[in-house]
Amino acid sequence: MSAPELTHAELVFQLASLSRSRAGEQARGCVNPIRLTGSSTTINASTGEVVRAYSSDDEPDGHTYVRCGNRRAAVCPSCSREYKGDAWHLLSCGLAGGKSVPETVAQHPATFATFTAPSFGAVHRHTRPANGRTSPCRARRDRPRCPHGRPLSCVRRHDADDPQVGQPLCHECYDYTAHAAWQWWAPQLWRYFTMALRRRLARAAGLSMKAFTSAAKVSYTRVVEFQARGVVHFHVVIRLDGPDGPTTPPQLPLTVTDLEDAVRHAAAHVHKDVPIPGGQTLRLRWGRQLDLRTITPGTGRDNQAGPAHPHQVAAYLAKYLTKSTEDFGLPVAGKLYSAGHAAKHGATPHAVRLIKAAQQLVPIHDDYQRLKDRYATLGYRGHPITKSRAYSVTFGALRTARRQWRQRRAQLPTDADVRDVLDVDQADTEDTATTVVVGSWRYAGRGYLDTAAAANATRSANLARIRRAEAQTFAAGVADGPAAQESVGDSREKSYG
Ligand SMILES: [Zn+2]
Ligand SMILES: [Zn+2]
Ligand SMILES: [Zn+2]
Repeated sequence: MSAPELTHAELVFQLASLSRSRAGEQARGCVNPIRLTGSSTTINASTGEVVRAYSSDDEPDGHTYVRCGNRRAAVCPSCSREYKGDAWHLLSCGLAGGKSVPETVAQHPATFATFTAPSFGAVHRHTRPANGRTSPCRARRDRPRCPHGRPLSCVRRHDADDPQVGQPLCHECYDYTAHAAWQWWAPQLWRYFTMALRRRLARAAGLSMKAFTSAAKVSYTRVVEFQARGVVHFHVVIRLDGPDGPTTPPQLPLTVTDLEDAVRHAAAHVHKDVPIPGGQTLRLRWGRQLDLRTITPGTGRDNQAGPAHPHQVAAYLAKYLTKSTEDFGLPVAGKLYSAGHAAKHGATPHAVRLIKAAQQLVPIHDDYQRLKDRYATLGYRGHPITKSRAYSVTFGALRTARRQWRQRRAQLPTDADVRDVLDVDQADTEDTATTVVVGSWRYAGRGYLDTAAAANATRSANLARIRRAEAQTFAAGVADGPAAQESVGDSREKSYG
């Protein structure tokens, strides 16, 4: 019995659904996967035997779909969720022990610190609900006005997502130059802080720097959070480890209180003098507000203040990692050339003014040269997450795993925001020591194909398969022997799934 004739529309639909269902299987809810064409073969290094062979030719539409892996929730909710989970897992291992980090690490003196930026002028704010109700923004009985005649009070109760939040009450009073300079120099201020902290700790222990270094190491994990006003805050785990890192306790009689005292002291005393337009010098410091929460496994996981549980700290850090600068109307990818360019892109007036101030810093000193490449992050030049080498051996192992993974992975386009944390488990489970992967991949585009393109691609992939099968049969006939067929393993390489 022959199948009923399909109409053209039905045929297109069926071909497209073949592509769709396999793409969905591979990309698992990623909104903008990367499409690749190519193949890879896994070979046992000692025997030369082909362990696995995989080619995008075997996919219904001839494409291999790779998840975008973007950590930012606004770009891809699915990949961001996965990234957050992986980040939490890794950070938890670093804090509470797990994987290759001993659980004794949780006994080392450790604190969770939030370093803030100073105020550059009054902004509208969302105040956390007290008794279930958000407090007024800036209630002032005397209703003062600034020199430009704008009110310096605001009685509105802004929700957290109110676009007014973070916008200055008066943009003329707001010190955009100081804001831009502070943001640019924040990583330097951080370095000064870490040096001052070590000096302070050595002094508290009554040791020379040299003796201190042989007794303890200070480890950091620092995650950046952009505030609504467009300035970064640093959320940092600061921990005292032994001289060899997290595997040994510090060989010092210092408690977590000593550590926190030293953090406060160092943060209050570091500064950096930087040039600003008009031949002036600006002295940069941390904001006065410095929150410290002792990290201890013996506390509740939901405390809003006071001591924090390692898992809770990991959750905070993972959450900050998935946020970014898109809230300011800035592009999440690609370069931003100027304040005007930002305005055209739909950036908030506040962000545009801030970028303008950054532009004015560029010509005044060589140190600001590279600032012009950082307008898209409002002048911030650091990474979303940084950690000192000693923080956790898991991160070290991760780097190796990641490198191996990159070699195995297809050559991705430079703008592919390849997730970093995800791949370790897959790399771990593979027998990477004994096999080599030879592959060649080409970037074919981004996103899922639309119906017509998916149908076309599936049709061409099918035709190509038929042609290859015919060629093989022909070759086999010529050789007059058993088909010289490459064994195409039925186990599709999981790496792209
Ligand atoms: Zn994605
Ligand atoms: Zn307000
Ligand atoms: Zn004003």
